[in-house]
Amino acid sequence: MNAPSRSDHQPVFPPDGVFIDNEWRSPASGDRLDVIDPATGQVFARIAAGNAQDIDAAVAAARRALDGEWGRLTATERGRILSRASALVQEAADELAALEARDTGKPISQARADITATARYLEFYGGAADKVHGDTIPFLPGHFALTEHVPHGVTGHIIPWNYPAQMFGRTIAAALAMGNACVLKPAEDACLTPLRLTEILRDAGLPAGALNCVPGRGGEAGAALAAHRGVDFLSFTGSPEVGAAIQTAAAQHHIGCTLELGGKSPQILFDDADLDLAMPIVMKAITQNAGQTCSAGARLLVQDSIAAEVTRRLQQDFPKLTAGAQDADRDLGPLISLKQQGRVQRFCEIADADGIPLIAEGRIDPAASPDGHFVAPRAYGPVPRDHALAQQEVFGPVLSLMTFTDEADAIALANATDYGLVAGVWSQNGSRAIRVARQIKVGQVFVNAYGAGGGIELPFGGMKKSGHGREKGFDALYEFAATRTMVIKHD
Ligand code: NAD
Repeated sequence: MNAPSRSDHQPVFPPDGVFIDNEWRSPASGDRLDVIDPATGQVFARIAAGNAQDIDAAVAAARRALDGEWGRLTATERGRILSRASALVQEAADELAALEARDTGKPISQARADITATARYLEFYGGAADKVHGDTIPFLPGHFALTEHVPHGVTGHIIPWNYPAQMFGRTIAAALAMGNACVLKPAEDACLTPLRLTEILRDAGLPAGALNCVPGRGGEAGAALAAHRGVDFLSFTGSPEVGAAIQTAAAQHHIGCTLELGGKSPQILFDDADLDLAMPIVMKAITQNAGQTCSAGARLLVQDSIAAEVTRRLQQDFPKLTAGAQDADRDLGPLISLKQQGRVQRFCEIADADGIPLIAEGRIDPAASPDGHFVAPRAYGPVPRDHALAQQEVFGPVLSLMTFTDEADAIALANATDYGLVAGVWSQNGSRAIRVARQIKVGQVFVNAYGAGGGIELPFGGMKKSGHGREKGFDALYEFAATRTMVIKHD
């Protein structure tokens, strides 16, 4: 794709509209949003800004789909559509990866991996659609009791900008597999791949209204979707603040929701950790997607006796890291927006002002545009346990090193934030690693590994301020359905 000037508003993609009933329509307000390339700060496309009226139309279309062709399909037929969509995503992988990289700023190789994962979500949930079944339950004499998992109905999906394609795959594919009809509100900062993927689902044979996509501002289209009385369930990924608003909106009309709200995830290095194995993964866990990952390994908890060696390795590894434009395919790209760049820079300014030692720093590619939203990756430490860098989600490539004395101290430190999403435990003492892993209040914990290649099959979600409900794996399918129990009396 070429990089037009700020005044050149020729859309590369998408069509200029909201997607309802399998067609693009002009947004009710006629309003548009600029799409900015994070590596240059330049506008390269415009998208429709949907509002409450568009959400209304989308919810009505979803309801019609449930009452019509979509609602009549068997689970196997639903699964086949998702499997076809997976194949189409793989065929369009180059186009989708380029779109994802341009829109989010991430290096092209990371965008390609995201598209592979998106296809895998569609494949996984396509295959799973007809493998979800209920139980028969021993009950009173003369009674036959069983359960089935029925779709909620119309599901509302609000996703963030950090992994738009993957978020689409994980939330939409699971909801459709179970027979829900979806209304998706992608993030205003990056929504091109969700729009394109919505079209691909149509091309794979999804009946009209089963998936509707309304781009727009969070406070308008997002809030309207969360508050809509025609929505039966909400799935949200984003900030804890908006997550709380979503849960409040869901409570107003007594529906359920899943919330995935980020983290401050610890990587715990014991004195017997295999550092040659651990350190490259520690580095990747804080630099992937420029640290804009809910499961970023943002806290490096190190046993006192190896703190000097770990610090030495960070001093060796961080300066080798470069942030650059998408096609340069450096270690990390720019941050998504000026707002996020400012947020990360403020955390660094606070750390510097508070005298927290800067262990090491990467660099910004000299060829990168000065108008791009770049920050150099940094490692700080030791960080005091109550400092903002120890407690708050930075959502950028900033690693906080902290030290602990023994096993009990490591567990206490790992649990000493409001968040509880992911943790990594590194030790060659298997018993210790498992003992510790089981005492960390997180939804997902890795032993001598971290992230483990996407983990589409693995249930994922938070405890505490990281949210509730599970996405990925089979667990997600049960989130998008309600259990109905049936009891039949016989002679
Ligand atoms: P956000 O929570 O504001 O946005 C996430 C999604 O919610 C977007 O689609 C947005 O349009 C929508 N939204 C915003 N306000 C809404 C409202 N009132 N009602 C309904 N929907 C609304 O996140 P952000 O401002 O883009 O990022 C801020 C911080 O959130 C980040 O710094 C990071 O800490 C966190 N975050 C976490 C994740 C994650 O994967 N858990 C993703 C993005 C951001």
